[in-house]
Amino acid sequence: MDTLSKEQRSLNMSKIHSFDTKPEILVRRYLFANGFRYRVNVKSLPGTPDIVLRKYRTVIFIHGCFWHRHECMKGKLPKTNTEFWEQKFRKNQERDISVREKLKQLGWNTLIVWECQLKPTVREQTLKEIAYLLNKSQLKILHHRYQIYEEPIRIAAEEPAKYGLD
Ligand SMILES: [Zn+2]
Repeated sequence: MDTLSKEQRSLNMSKIHSFDTKPEILVRRYLFANGFRYRVNVKSLPGTPDIVLRKYRTVIFIHGCFWHRHECMKGKLPKTNTEFWEQKFRKNQERDISVREKLKQLGWNTLIVWECQLKPTVREQTLKEIAYLLNKSQLKILHHRYQIYEEPIRIAAEEPAKYGLD
């Protein structure tokens, strides 16, 4: 006998479909292994970001290429019911833009990772780039914290002759 209630079942289904999808797990596993700490599916932030890295003031969305219209093969408009899809995609895109705008106003960086960027052939490169961007965003925060501005810190110059530069 099936003992799951309708609610439980739909909850399980939603878990399968909208959470813990494989590409997201890949990113999370990589981040964790490299010392990044995060929270997942944070409902208190606009758009319920997939991954939230507070220390880096950065949220990550892992977008499916089809649903979010990536400029790749998978993001192409279906040949049938074109009008229906166009409308549906437009709504998704508008929502994505407004979510990014809201996050920006709240002081968050938004990082979009496309599913096709996590294909086995390009995955390693993508993950490294995510880590690079996170570190870069933290650098900005640190600059602010330590009040490092454009002006370089002046250190008393030593005699150039010492290094044989003249
Ligand atoms: Zn794509």
